[in-house]
Amino acid sequence: MKAVQYRTIGGAPEVVDVAVPEPGPGQVLLKVTAAGVCHSDIMVMSMPAERLPFPLPLTLGHEGAGIVAALGEGVSSVTVGDSVVVYGPQGCGVCAVCSSGRENYCPHARRLGIHPPGLGSPGAMAEYMIVDDPRHLVPIGDLDPVSAVPLTDAGLTPYHSVRRALPQLVPGSTAVVIGTGGLGHLAIQLLRALTPARVVALDVSAEKLEFARGVGAHEALLSDANAAAAVRELTGGLGADAVFDFVGADVTGRSAVAMAALDADIQLVGIGGGTIPVGFGRVPYGTTVTTPYWGSRTELAEVIALAQAGALSVHTETYSIDDAPRAYERLHQGKISGRAVILPGS
Ligand code: NAD
Ligand code: ZN
Ligand code: ZN
Repeated sequence: MKAVQYRTIGGAPEVVDVAVPEPGPGQVLLKVTAAGVCHSDIMVMSMPAERLPFPLPLTLGHEGAGIVAALGEGVSSVTVGDSVVVYGPQGCGVCAVCSSGRENYCPHARRLGIHPPGLGSPGAMAEYMIVDDPRHLVPIGDLDPVSAVPLTDAGLTPYHSVRRALPQLVPGSTAVVIGTGGLGHLAIQLLRALTPARVVALDVSAEKLEFARGVGAHEALLSDANAAAAVRELTGGLGADAVFDFVGADVTGRSAVAMAALDADIQLVGIGGGTIPVGFGRVPYGTTVTTPYWGSRTELAEVIALAQAGALSVHTETYSIDDAPRAYERLHQGKISGRAVILPGS
């Protein structure tokens, strides 16, 4: 079967032929219907060898959707033919944290060598993929796999972030979304669906700002040196009650701090390598700065339910598996609107 692999440090992703895997005891084989292209893959592919926490080659794709194709011995909770998406940030499954569904914060995953599909174990950018346990699967029923697949990360990660900020996002509050790409365009919609906050989007081009308005941002501003002052002006000098930074560079972190209100919530979601210095006089009094990671299993089921209720409009560009390297190039150039999705069956 064809698979998209990251094979050599610093190299571009390649389409290669690999064997179709067979499900072992307890595992599930999926025929992949769709795989999302996340900016984190680009970050992984720019890491020096000594920082990469897993060996190569790696089949990419940590956003996966598929049809259950075969069951390993002992699996009975899913049925061949089920349409599902894959929960990525898998933990040990048995500790207190995993038992509450928050496998994204499992304290044992690293020690046990558990890696998400596409981020250490073989991912969804292939015609078939193995899922280690049926608990990682969320049924999507009639949802289109192409628009459902980004929900597993581009939807789940901002859903988790927005939920953490709910106490801040009361009527009259303002939320800022920095970076309106795969995650950001869903963050805007999640803020609109879950909170009464005014939503201000920041990005670097007129097209992205237009896109942000189109998916529900009340205001869209250029992310430049004047952005913080503009947000202060929009909020009568008070600043934003929550800032979600989906870029995570030093420059956006500085901007986030400069536009934050007192007692605000700044969430550094983007993995741009930036830091936000925290201390008295460095951030407004009471402000929290956090680095949320992905989301819980329960939250994935909730995001899927929200999509099934018609509350989310996922924007996608589709590519055949042979064209996956081009999708990564376009993402790197900032040219994707919403999420690029690979269709391994085409
Ligand atoms: P994307 O490329 O689809 O979107 C990034 C957006 O940011 C683009 O619209 C781009 O134009 C915009 N941008 C670039 N520089 C900017 C600036 N200075 N100011 C404002 N906007 C700017 O990326 P994505 O797949 O949505 O991922 C976003 C970030 O989140 C990445 O860093 C990714 O690695 C990270 N991520 C983190 C988690 C987590 O669990 N914390 C999960 C998934 C992705
Ligand atoms: Zn991702
Ligand atoms: Zn655990």
